[in-house]
Amino acid sequence: MKNKKVIIIGAGIGGLTAGALLAQMGYEVTILEKNSSIGGRVMQFSESGYTFDMGSPWYIMPEVYERLFAHFGKKPSDFYHLTKLKTHYRMFFGKNQVIDIDEDMSKNLQQFEAMEKGSAKNIKDYLAKSKSLYDFSMKHVAYKNHDSMFDRVRFAWVRAALSAPIFDSLEEFVSRYTKNKELQKVLLYSSLFIGNPPQQTPSLYSALANIDSHTGVFYPQGGMHQVVTALEMLCKEYGATIKLRTPVAKIVTKDGCASSVIARNKRYNADFIISNADYAHTELRLLDEEHRTYDEQYAEYKRNTSSAFIMYFGVKGGVKKLKHHTFIVANDWDDHFSDMFADTSWPNEPLVYITTSSKTDPSVAPKGCDAIRVYVPISAYIKDTPEARAAFKEKVIQRIEQMTGEDIRSRLVVDRVFTIKDYQRLYNSYRGGGLGFTTKKFNTGFLHPNNKSMKVRNLFYAGRDSLPGIGMGLAVISAELAVMRVMEADTPSRK
Ligand SMILES: Cc1cc2nc3c(=O)[nH]c(=O)nc-3n(C[C@H](O)[C@H](O)[C@H](O)COP(=O)(O)OP(=O)(O)OC[C@H]3O[C@@H](n4cnc5c(N)ncnc54)[C@H](O)[C@@H]3O)c2cc1C
Repeated sequence: MKNKKVIIIGAGIGGLTAGALLAQMGYEVTILEKNSSIGGRVMQFSESGYTFDMGSPWYIMPEVYERLFAHFGKKPSDFYHLTKLKTHYRMFFGKNQVIDIDEDMSKNLQQFEAMEKGSAKNIKDYLAKSKSLYDFSMKHVAYKNHDSMFDRVRFAWVRAALSAPIFDSLEEFVSRYTKNKELQKVLLYSSLFIGNPPQQTPSLYSALANIDSHTGVFYPQGGMHQVVTALEMLCKEYGATIKLRTPVAKIVTKDGCASSVIARNKRYNADFIISNADYAHTELRLLDEEHRTYDEQYAEYKRNTSSAFIMYFGVKGGVKKLKHHTFIVANDWDDHFSDMFADTSWPNEPLVYITTSSKTDPSVAPKGCDAIRVYVPISAYIKDTPEARAAFKEKVIQRIEQMTGEDIRSRLVVDRVFTIKDYQRLYNSYRGGGLGFTTKKFNTGFLHPNNKSMKVRNLFYAGRDSLPGIGMGLAVISAELAVMRVMEADTPSRK
């Protein structure tokens, strides 16, 4: 086994996790990353004293990181300090209609009951279902490779049978527990984690509600990038090499087996290759046609989740009405979400999600100021032009100012926009999608592509597009699954 070579394409969470684990096992690991820094969708940048996490703002599934670091005899606290948020999030339904979701669930249930009689009990039941579904999935499904469709469907059906009606959308499922439109939104916002409209998200994703309701909401001081830094330290400790500014242009095969990659005109030989790059990019751009498991039509069918319109603002003097996590909910929620997938037009009244890490972490902004990251889910099929960006940015700022009653525009010290074309440029994302392949109804987890190529031996996948799906924690699990694939494929030499 010793000194077998593994090439990993991409230094996102999945690539780094797989790299650290395989290096610890004695493989000679080289991670090739196209960008000048690591972390992929969890990159970070600083400007004028403000620091921003570019992608993920929610540290969810803490137990996944505990399990991962335990493989190395470590704990998350060996790398970063987690702060538990008192207010999980604030939701604006209108200027004077605000709800704060507290870490103390009994307080939340009291608020819910005041909004709709009987809802405290119903929502408690809903959250209990969510927890059992989550626990079941983590115990029996998440950490398993599935080799046949039968395996995968069987698991999914068991999961469904135990909990949610499989043909319901998440929105339909939630509406069985509360008729109050605001409360529905409180229970549905988590579908944003997977970039899906709740009307098209399978009810199984009600498991997501468990993430804040039972586990709590955490934040690593210094930002989400601390997770990336921890993984980089482990890669270095165990001797994995990370090469930046090294975009892979081709995966070369020999006798049906992955044998090397070409990057910057140099060949890197490999016994095993794991691609952490987007699935469609790997299949359609890095492999010759005869070696592709899936074609362009498949990528189109899977279509991306939504893309995102993101603004990074350094605001002098801060924005008082914002919490660490704040949502400004669209009045016409259905309209926004149909725009997100079907349309090529910008949303009229956007749903706005704002992360203000400086509320918890003084290191990310100058004293008394706020580093805010504004996120609006949009369709990846919108035409992204400088004029359209400017107009939409204006609309979103107006909306934040309207709700908070605070002027932002005149106090911007940092002012950056990141959207569809940036996703394509920075991550080779298919059509500029933000998160990866969709998990909408009839296109969900167990129908995701497998994490091994069906055409090329010893080519595996880790990351958001393969099982178990989208999210930092799931990218970690996908890497553990890809590592199992390498070990299985390497079994003869390990005996
Ligand atoms: C706006 C946004 C908000 C999110 N919010 C959350 C959240 O709150 N909580 C959460 O858990 N998750 C969240 N996510 C999802 C989570 O960030 C991602 O699912 C996860 O980080 C993906 O990790 P990955 O390992 O799949 O790789 P990625 O981060 O996608 O990295 C892939 C890497 O491959 C590199 N690459 C691509 N092509 C090549 C090539 N040809 N050669 C070399 N390198 C290449 C890319 O540059 C990139 O570094 C969010 C994502 C986004 C975009």
